[in-house]
Amino acid sequence: MSRKLQVGIIDLVSKKPNKKLFARIMNANFASIMPQVIGVWCEEEGHNVSYVCYTGKEDLMTELPQNADIIFIGAFTESAQTAYALSNLLRSRGAVTVLGGPHARCYPEDAVKYFDYVVGFTDKKIINLILYDCASHRPVGLHLAAQRQPVQLPGVKERWKFIEPTLKKAPLIKLVPMLGSLGCPYTCSFCIDSTVAYQPLDFEVMKEDLRFLLTKFKRPLVGWHDPNFGIRFNEYMDAIEEVVPENSIDFIAESSLSILSEPHVKRLKRNGFGALLPGIESWFDLGNKSKTGSLTGIDKVKHIADQINMILRYIPYVQTNFVLGLDSDKGEEPFELTKKFVDMTPGAFPGYSLLSAFGRAAPLNLEYQQLNRIIPFPFHFLDNNHAMNIKPKNYSWQEFYSHVINLGEYTFSWKAIVKRLIATNAFIPRWMNVVRAVSEEGFGRISFNKTILDNLNSDFQFRDYFEQETTELPQFYHDIIKNEIGPLWHWLPDGALFHDQNAYLNAQEERIAV
Ligand code: SF4
Repeated sequence: MSRKLQVGIIDLVSKKPNKKLFARIMNANFASIMPQVIGVWCEEEGHNVSYVCYTGKEDLMTELPQNADIIFIGAFTESAQTAYALSNLLRSRGAVTVLGGPHARCYPEDAVKYFDYVVGFTDKKIINLILYDCASHRPVGLHLAAQRQPVQLPGVKERWKFIEPTLKKAPLIKLVPMLGSLGCPYTCSFCIDSTVAYQPLDFEVMKEDLRFLLTKFKRPLVGWHDPNFGIRFNEYMDAIEEVVPENSIDFIAESSLSILSEPHVKRLKRNGFGALLPGIESWFDLGNKSKTGSLTGIDKVKHIADQINMILRYIPYVQTNFVLGLDSDKGEEPFELTKKFVDMTPGAFPGYSLLSAFGRAAPLNLEYQQLNRIIPFPFHFLDNNHAMNIKPKNYSWQEFYSHVINLGEYTFSWKAIVKRLIATNAFIPRWMNVVRAVSEEGFGRISFNKTILDNLNSDFQFRDYFEQETTELPQFYHDIIKNEIGPLWHWLPDGALFHDQNAYLNAQEERIAV
């Protein structure tokens, strides 16, 4: 064994201080599994671990692990600037820093400038290697990645010492994160999981975890982190039915519509599934994951609306996910069809994402980079909503934002909110829909998108940035980051607001040249 280390782990659920209602209720429920897994692995090797799940309500500066030899930070791309500043601060205190999570997988070329280690697919061997080495690698960190995802991960029982304090931060809803599988057999071109082979984890561990949770809560609530839950549907349900007395655990899962036939939905209801988040994505593309094949346009709308209304007869909370700005969309039709769908499924909550290319996340990103369509918005805005970093194929920016605003106003009009309230049967889902609509996700985004459109119409430099005629970052974005990351702004390294938006392509070309 290497020397006994003081290990710090920071899971950046939030990229900024956030005391808004929805964040206070929900953020602790979005803790990632891998930082907890790394905590278990480090303890198995005999090291001392302190773990912080940063939800936005803590004072991060006082919660940082003290006297740590090495600190692992898990971050999505939207938290990258926060993570870079944190790494700089922690290095100044003598710690070695490691970045993992989606940002490390998508942008390793950028992250190695600010961390001693950057890890892609991570298994215990990689972690042990880092713990053994535990050295400064500067100015350029080491990029390490396993060939594939681990075949097994520590379950809830082993992660409980990290889960329990995190759930204490969640005042009302306490969602235990579980994982039954990794990867996905579908190949949606924009998705980070489309290139990860589907692999179920050990059903015996899952059963043991469910039994364990029944000893911890009167009625546990489990959020499945599987990218596409229920691919091996019958095996999953058999395992749950074997250990969980009927309807004694509540479950939430993200499944593709192809899995959600009526017999399957009935079985999900019987087993306590109370919320499902199927992806529809587009009316003109990605028909395979919704099993709508070649159906497009209004025919697809009608078909899927029927299916969603069927699901809502059994499952009280359904969020339907859409990607706006796909290359298959043109004109106002995709937006008008989504409005029709909103009318036809009043009980569902629509979740909208702007098409985004996250570095190395998907092979399609290489094509966008080759076509010079990527705009280097600072990572802080790459959360699928505050910036679309791919120049739309069939819209001008002004047209696109006008459509997005119009759709948002339609979806979150008071008329639609009341219709959704009436069409939702259960108490928590009903109020969750209202809170989401009137908070950052509904009203907040409409107002932000209106500011973007105003700037596009009135500020030449702002518009030039979107049109790739300048790379000078508009002051608007600079000011938001400075304001949002607060005291960490002073620790943001020089140059960390900018990244090479074509790093994936450039790395491929360098490899070929070698
Ligand atoms: S079905 Fe979902 S998880 Fe699978 S590739 Fe498509 S978007 Fe990703």
